[in-house]
Amino acid sequence: YDGISPSPDEGIEEEKAVVEEEKPGPVQIVRASESDYIFELDTAALERILLQDHLKDLNVVVVSVAGAFRKGKSFLLDFMLRYMYNQQSDSWIGGDDEPLTGFKWRGGCERETTGIQAWSDVFVVEKPDGSKVAVLLVDTQGAFDSQSTLKDSATVFALSTMTSSVQVYNLSHNIQEDDLQHLQLFTEYGRLAMEETESKPFQSLMFLIRDWSFPYEHTYGLEGGNTLLRKRLEVKNYQHEELQNVRKHIDSCFTKISCFLLPHPGLKVSTNPHFDGRLKDVEDDFKTQLAELVPLLLAPHRLVEKEISGSKITCRDLVEYFKAYIKIYQG
Ligand code: GDP
Ligand code: MG
Repeated sequence: YDGISPSPDEGIEEEKAVVEEEKPGPVQIVRASESDYIFELDTAALERILLQDHLKDLNVVVVSVAGAFRKGKSFLLDFMLRYMYNQQSDSWIGGDDEPLTGFKWRGGCERETTGIQAWSDVFVVEKPDGSKVAVLLVDTQGAFDSQSTLKDSATVFALSTMTSSVQVYNLSHNIQEDDLQHLQLFTEYGRLAMEETESKPFQSLMFLIRDWSFPYEHTYGLEGGNTLLRKRLEVKNYQHEELQNVRKHIDSCFTKISCFLLPHPGLKVSTNPHFDGRLKDVEDDFKTQLAELVPLLLAPHRLVEKEISGSKITCRDLVEYFKAYIKIYQG
């Protein structure tokens, strides 16, 4: 115990309070209903998270991770949670033998419900200028694997991009032409739904390349990632017009675009069915880069507040935007 021993009565009170408080966990806020593929927002769940007294009037930071199934999105988010819960500690990344908990992540190739989940704990962080912001972490599930599911994935991607200040676009191995085409489709979906403004419709986009295996061409991390990205997004006169348009479109949608290259985490992570996330089973290179990546997204001086049409919005505003945006996709 932390040195202060409560009187017997207080002890009992405290225990009761702990039991009544729900354990933090992932909350499904948007789901595609399986029968008719109509998207539904769980307004009550979203309000329980964002309208808490100590949060509702704070400016909100929303960090989301999106991309195809089974590419380690939830796994990454669990390390982001570790960082948020242990901000002050240099050893936030955890011990060698601690199983990883948080958003549900697992091996195998079975599909999950298409939709958006938020972590129930919203973190209050003081920025270097003394202002307090509320940090919401968002996980998404999309399919991206067939034409019929592409529309749903586009909706999930668009909704999460419209409501986040930082979107991490999680990709495997490399940035392929069809990843860019998907991105164009998804952001076009989102942009059509938003009011025309002078400013770019979305904020920060980070391409996150998992299992990067050419560190001798582009080194792991942000620098290598950004040189790769510049090459991939370059518009060249001899390119087919379609390729040029994809690139111009992506550029016109985001105020900031970056790229980070993560190494393969090792075979225990990718293939062992008994792997439970403990760090001793994860390759050192991966851990080193993870320790760079997470603070890039979440350190207090890095936090990007969510803006809509150029103005910062509060947790309370975000609920209203979710309600308005979901209507568009319920058509
Ligand atoms: P999600 O569907 O994108 O959320 O993927 P999960 O986080 O559930 O992870 C799916 C599987 O990929 C799990 O077995 C993880 O252990 C594994 N995994 C996590 N990160 C990586 C990575 O960077 N590379 C590879 N190859 N596998 C990973
Ligand atoms: Mg997942």
